[in-house]
Amino acid sequence: MAKKYDGVQRESTRRTEQSDISDLAHLSKRVKHSSLSESSKFEYGNMEPDRVDPGQRENFKLTCPKIKDHDKFIPIAEFKNEDLPVEYQSTDLIQSVMALADLTVRVRCKYTSSSRPKVHQASGTVYPFYRDRGRNNIIRTGTGRVWHVMMLENSGEPCSCHRCEGTKTRQGRITILTATHVVFNSSEARATSVDFFFDDESRSSCVTLKAEEVYVADAVSDRCYFDCYTCDVELLQKLSKIWIKWLTLCKTVREEHQNSEAEIKLAIMVAHPHGLPKQVSVGRWFEIQDSVDSVHFYTYDCPTCPGSSGAYVYTLARQGWWSNHVHSGANLSLNYSGSGIDWGWCTVAASTT
Ligand SMILES: [Zn+2]
Ligand SMILES: [Zn+2]
Repeated sequence: MAKKYDGVQRESTRRTEQSDISDLAHLSKRVKHSSLSESSKFEYGNMEPDRVDPGQRENFKLTCPKIKDHDKFIPIAEFKNEDLPVEYQSTDLIQSVMALADLTVRVRCKYTSSSRPKVHQASGTVYPFYRDRGRNNIIRTGTGRVWHVMMLENSGEPCSCHRCEGTKTRQGRITILTATHVVFNSSEARATSVDFFFDDESRSSCVTLKAEEVYVADAVSDRCYFDCYTCDVELLQKLSKIWIKWLTLCKTVREEHQNSEAEIKLAIMVAHPHGLPKQVSVGRWFEIQDSVDSVHFYTYDCPTCPGSSGAYVYTLARQGWWSNHVHSGANLSLNYSGSGIDWGWCTVAASTT
């Protein structure tokens, strides 16, 4: 049965994320790539949030272990068709990436919860920032994307955005999807800022909101959904329209490349490596791997750096056209996403804004 996403949902519809995931878990078997490695156990490496000690922001240019990848990042304003493999070059895909970029946010968190576990369950390695638990003087940056926008009619709740500082009421909620190792729980969310439209150093279009509560965060799948609230109706409507545009384009692009015979399985990321303005990275995805929680994750080779954690991993030439896989980490040879689900059956309704 087709399910409609209308971009701006009303409060009465409540959230469907958890039921969507449970309903769709069985579909994951349909989207496995035929090249699955059935027997090998995936080797995890490091998760990729960026840790910024006070006064050390510029050090990454000298100390980043992935410095060779820096020249491969493409500033969003410079991204063009020729940056894609020939078989994927299309106006629809370029516009799709641009819409994804408009939904991409920088996440900055200055508190590390004492609830962070010692060990990352999947890899057995020390969980990121475990040793910084309880500290509030280290800024951790990552990437996220707008997952959902909801208008709140007559909320009556005071807004907490920087612009009004409580003098107005909340007009809408923006839910952000990122990696759990970037924002672990609500105590970390309440110490988190979200930068929308941080496209270049001028910050001419940048809007910053405070995060508030985590809606769902799971360390195993490494997916975290947290909420921001704002009184800025213009911002809410702008994001809603971009969100619908992006979904529509994702479906169009999927129809162009579904089950593509192209040798390259394309993967694209828009992220804030090192907390920089948005950068596009283009690579290939290789395998869909089983995950410990019955869904799956991707491996891919898009250039990434610390700060890329939580970025959406946009994969083409597969059956699904939309998913909730976020960049989680990298081992010596490949990147890997958090686990998630590919959607391949949704319909997109017309804008309601
Ligand atoms: Zn406000
Ligand atoms: Zn780097």
